[in-house]
Amino acid sequence: MSERCFVGLGSNQADPAAQIERACEAISRLPQVMLRARSSLYSSAPLGPQDQPSYINAVAMIDTRLQPEALLDALQAIEQQQGRLRKAERWGPRTLDLDILLLGNRVIDTPRLQVPHYHMHARPFVLYPLAELNAQLVMPDGTPLSDLLLACPAEGIEPIADSAQTYC
Ligand code: ATP
Ligand code: CA
Ligand code: CA
Ligand code: CA
Repeated sequence: MSERCFVGLGSNQADPAAQIERACEAISRLPQVMLRARSSLYSSAPLGPQDQPSYINAVAMIDTRLQPEALLDALQAIEQQQGRLRKAERWGPRTLDLDILLLGNRVIDTPRLQVPHYHMHARPFVLYPLAELNAQLVMPDGTPLSDLLLACPAEGIEPIADSAQTYC
């Protein structure tokens, strides 16, 4: 059975908007994954170190039959294909970051994978694009997305007009 999953995308290196587009194409080509829609692109201020370019962020909505760890493997392979270098600095610049935000109603807490993403509730560049895709979403613990939005003002993010995408 396939599960609805939301994947956060971010980039601040080497033409970030093109990195996001390329990542969506790569996601759509994954076996056992159907890409349904991608939110608008958002320009957002960096987390952590401020001496780096601003980010482009978006959220993709997919349906997948992959098991969680297999999905993470596939997403990390796409990060690698797009030149992601893992450096010591936390939240430093990167060509591509793909985070599993939600996977069905699952709660996962293993050393490699925490779902829902541990910090999504505090990140406007995650919550606002997510709401574009499904404003009625409810977290696995029963919290409506709309409650999270009320607690997380849309500060430091700017949607790019007419940049959302649907896929058949
Ligand atoms: P943050 O997690 O705060 O957004 P980050 O995305 O920069 O920071 P990374 O260096 O990309 O962090 O990832 C570190 C590790 O996080 C990954 O190797 C992966 O095993 C783990 N991880 C845990 N939960 C998730 C998740 N939901 N999606 C993606 N990676 C996850
Ligand atoms: Ca596919
Ligand atoms: Ca991240
Ligand atoms: Ca990540």
